[in-house]
Amino acid sequence: IPNSIKEEIIELFESFPNLNKIYEIYSKIGEGTFSSVYLGKERKVSRFNNNHDNKRNKTSSLVALKKIYVTSSPQRIFNELNLLYILRGNENVAPLLDVLRYEDQVIAVLPYYKHSDFRDFYRDLPLIGIKNYMFDLFQAIEFIHKHDVIHRDIKPTNFLYNPFTGKGVLVDFGLAEKYEPVINNACPCINGGFNDEEISKFEKLSVYPKNGYLKDDQRPGRRANRAGTRGFRAPEVLFKCNCQTPLIDIWSAGVMLLTLLSRRFPFFNSTDDIEAIMELINIYGTIEMKECANLHGLNLDCNIPKMKNKISFSAIIANSILMDCKEGDTFAEDSPAWEILSVIDKRGRIIDNKLGNEYNNAIDLLEKSMELYSNKRENAENLLKHEFFKEFRT
Ligand code: ADP
Ligand code: MG
Repeated sequence: IPNSIKEEIIELFESFPNLNKIYEIYSKIGEGTFSSVYLGKERKVSRFNNNHDNKRNKTSSLVALKKIYVTSSPQRIFNELNLLYILRGNENVAPLLDVLRYEDQVIAVLPYYKHSDFRDFYRDLPLIGIKNYMFDLFQAIEFIHKHDVIHRDIKPTNFLYNPFTGKGVLVDFGLAEKYEPVINNACPCINGGFNDEEISKFEKLSVYPKNGYLKDDQRPGRRANRAGTRGFRAPEVLFKCNCQTPLIDIWSAGVMLLTLLSRRFPFFNSTDDIEAIMELINIYGTIEMKECANLHGLNLDCNIPKMKNKISFSAIIANSILMDCKEGDTFAEDSPAWEILSVIDKRGRIIDNKLGNEYNNAIDLLEKSMELYSNKRENAENLLKHEFFKEFRT
């Protein structure tokens, strides 16, 4: 390990007087916005105070020590630890083993999960791997949603997957929250329906390439929880809906599935929410996006031409797989890749794929997860019953 990390570990031991007695630390395994994570092992202290037993105990297992930065508010730290505590007992959710505190410093202790960096496998994870990945992810989500917890930050770095064992574990409840339904001043999506007159009174959100803004509107801007990571935010989060439900996590899981199927990461790459809305317009078209904005009490004004209609996920995925094929590549049955993979319309555009049943099951699951209208999106429990997961049915 590099000297800078060694120094960091020494500093950590210095700032945490008792840590050294309880844990050994070997290396640093992660660094996020709100924490540093180290690989360590518990020292087993003998009941008989025998010095020999004080040495490394080979049977104790590896742990991840997550040092939460002191810049996080105490409420935030408490929230994360409390939710982790509530969410014990599912093999796809990392349980909290212990918490250490010294003055304002807090370390959460979790089991260590051996995993691969997403960037090292997303390009070549076979469909069976994608299936294992998504099944474990949806199992984790189903579990936390049963406990009324919204994760809010479902994305590859927070889902530790081991491609060799096919196991995945959800971590990082730093942005998670208890779901509490909004009753007063709720977003129109709660009722699902509204008429044209109501729509005309909605706040106007203008989406023009390069400068989206709220035009001619004297009302105070909308406020809503937007915590999460760009590119994984559900449309209702982008539209600042104040009735966000656990289904925002399903959308993010859908984006992960899209990433794996298209073998493009990051799939969405916007610098702000308006750009993120434009990226969605690119796929769903202006007609559906306006409708979605209406659902959340916004009037979407958009001057992007030629983007009225939706592009199918089937076409997106066939296209991206084709783009990765080299000339002369053959797919199943020795046919040229493009012939096997795509259905082309009169103008030579790919409109569908011939990827086969398994792929199409995956694409159907994708469409259900990335359902634009939050009131129509299915929950994890139902998605786990999807045809794509038939092998896992008990
Ligand atoms: P942050 O809130 O800073 O994003 P995370 O909990 O996501 O913190 O942890 C940051 C990184 O540390 C993760 O992306 C992962 O690479 C690594 N990590 C976290 N927990 C574990 C664990 N239990 N086992 C192995 N690696 C972990
Ligand atoms: Mg994280």
